[in-house]
Amino acid sequence: MADYDVLVVGAGILGLSTAYHIKLADPTLKVLVVDKNVAAGLGSTVNSAAAFRCFFTSISNFDLADSSVEFYKHLQEAQGVDLKLRFCGYLWCFTEESYKQVFSVLEELKAKGFVYKEYLPEDLSRLLGLRASFGGDQEAQRLGLGDVYRAVFVPKAGVIGVMSLVRFYESEFLKLGGEIQFRTQVTKLIVEPRLPIGLSGEPYFWQDSYVVAAETTRGTIKSGKTVVATGAWLPQLLDPVGIECFVKPRKRQVFNVKAETEALKTLLHIKDFSEVSSLPFIILPKPSVYLRPNLESESFSVGFADEFPRAYLLEEHPKPETDFYKHGLYPIFAKYLPQFEGAESSGGFAGLYEINTLDEQPVIFEDDHGIVVVGGGSGSGIMKADAIGRIAAAVYAGHEHAILFGNRQFRVSDLGLRHRRVEQEKLVI
Ligand SMILES: Cc1cc2nc3c(=O)[nH]c(=O)nc-3n(C[C@H](O)[C@H](O)[C@H](O)COP(=O)(O)OP(=O)(O)OC[C@H]3O[C@@H](n4cnc5c(N)ncnc54)[C@H](O)[C@@H]3O)c2cc1C
Repeated sequence: MADYDVLVVGAGILGLSTAYHIKLADPTLKVLVVDKNVAAGLGSTVNSAAAFRCFFTSISNFDLADSSVEFYKHLQEAQGVDLKLRFCGYLWCFTEESYKQVFSVLEELKAKGFVYKEYLPEDLSRLLGLRASFGGDQEAQRLGLGDVYRAVFVPKAGVIGVMSLVRFYESEFLKLGGEIQFRTQVTKLIVEPRLPIGLSGEPYFWQDSYVVAAETTRGTIKSGKTVVATGAWLPQLLDPVGIECFVKPRKRQVFNVKAETEALKTLLHIKDFSEVSSLPFIILPKPSVYLRPNLESESFSVGFADEFPRAYLLEEHPKPETDFYKHGLYPIFAKYLPQFEGAESSGGFAGLYEINTLDEQPVIFEDDHGIVVVGGGSGSGIMKADAIGRIAAAVYAGHEHAILFGNRQFRVSDLGLRHRRVEQEKLVI
């Protein structure tokens, strides 16, 4: 006899959303979530820039984000759940070359009702004091900076209070009768044959076997099915039982800069882009360093998703590197936005992207052995978490389609591995 119908390993945003949607779909199920941390959301979830955008070139990515954001908006505006959702918009700056790559997608999205506004370099200079071209600037050349050709402002985008979202899923799951156990690390997935015959060394390759339980630091938990939603730690549990998920960890860092001068305060509270009188989330053209406005703390967050030679490395508590700010980020964003000249960072944090190395889009599938795998948020798991949870719940229930918020149908196998069908994503940060 199993202790639980479903064991969800990982109380990050994806594990919680999945547990909630499984329980909501069938409240009679006994569902337990376990996490090695002392509370929910303390893995990559809390260490995120917590921004969202309904702006992706892949249609499936777009549907995941758009339906999730609609759900969050519904919670905040119709249900009174304060998610600290602020529609300050995204201002994505492009070089001529990168603009050409997204131009056709913009046209396609426009035909479907996608709203955006384009800005010319001179508009950005006037509104933001942004330096859009660097002709003859040797330092800019050394840094490989790209001139701004166009910027696309997306109003259906902004920032969210990620821990408010975590608390929403956690508390709703508990209200439905779900259980959560913290300080419980799964050390091993236990595999047994469906028909044990008592041979030493069971199960053998010719036996039909499946995951029946999880060995944890607080004892063994038997479950009908196990959902593995351990973010960057997915391979740590799946590799030992020979299940490939194509997810790798990579450190990402975010640094804080206080809006201490008048020029920075004016920039932070700019009124020209949205009703919330805030700087949009800005992505610079080349390299794509990003700036997040933090109105609640009168500051900005600055980050960049570096690749080569950044290691794929699983660290329990990744640390921000001061030099990454000083020699990596600062020279770039202060060149584009001279208001930041001399700005020091007041601190920062680091987390792990859980990157799906196939196509940087989520991975959700049920293996033949009693395991559902949910992960590969690839740097945008918060903004897609509701849709991912609904899809994972549909996978758990054996449905062909999931119904996303707003009654959108989503073919669940599109995010699986066997019949995966996702378009290339050109807007990854
Ligand atoms: C710097 C940075 C910036 C980001 N910015 C954004 C952004 O602006 N917008 C956005 O949408 N996304 C962003 N992301 C991505 C987003 O944070 C992730 O996609 C999302 O949090 C992934 O959620 P998860 O539940 O899969 O993983 P996690 O939050 O890491 O949850 C996994 C959980 O599993 C637990 N766990 C692991 N192994 C075990 C085990 N063996 N036993 C028990 N428990 C275990 C961990 O403790 C953890 O709580 C960012 C990420 C980083 C690092």
